[in-house]
Amino acid sequence: MIVPINIYSDEVLRRQAVSLEGVDADIEELLGNMFETMYNAPGIGLAAPQVGRSLRLLIVDISCIREYENVKPMVVINPGILDSRGYRAMEEGCLSLPGVQGDVVRPAAINLSWRDEHFEERTGEFSGMLARVLQHEIDHLDGRLFVDRLQRRDRRKVQKELDALAEGRFSASYPVVPTSLHIGQV
Ligand code: ZN
Repeated sequence: MIVPINIYSDEVLRRQAVSLEGVDADIEELLGNMFETMYNAPGIGLAAPQVGRSLRLLIVDISCIREYENVKPMVVINPGILDSRGYRAMEEGCLSLPGVQGDVVRPAAINLSWRDEHFEERTGEFSGMLARVLQHEIDHLDGRLFVDRLQRRDRRKVQKELDALAEGRFSASYPVVPTSLHIGQV
């Protein structure tokens, strides 16, 4: 089932997500919905908070990108970045911020520990596009969005678009959770 995506100003995107203790039927259903929602958008990564679930769970599939056709889709549960190397700037976007793009500097390679869809412990080293998408999605689990990492000048460039997102003045080609009409209320 395609589920609506939470947008920029939604507080669920700002929460510290909680770790999973296992994969049950509810999580399996969530994973199925997340893949369907990501492919529909289309996107190359999606974190559970983006569909309103504050859980440390994300999916990635970059096989639609040239030279990455053989990279298998990943289910990443309770990820931890053990180590990182180098730095690289790359343009990012986000399904929760339709129409917004900006250059983000992140480590070029990471060592990651996580649990897979069977809740088996895994570790691996990632670089290039996969390292990039994984770090972007892991940020979501910590309540962080890529615009938080923009240089001040670049952030100013997208501020108008961010304001528009917060006020619900945007269009997306996929279902979204309506932006609250009560911005500013506690
Ligand atoms: Zn995102």
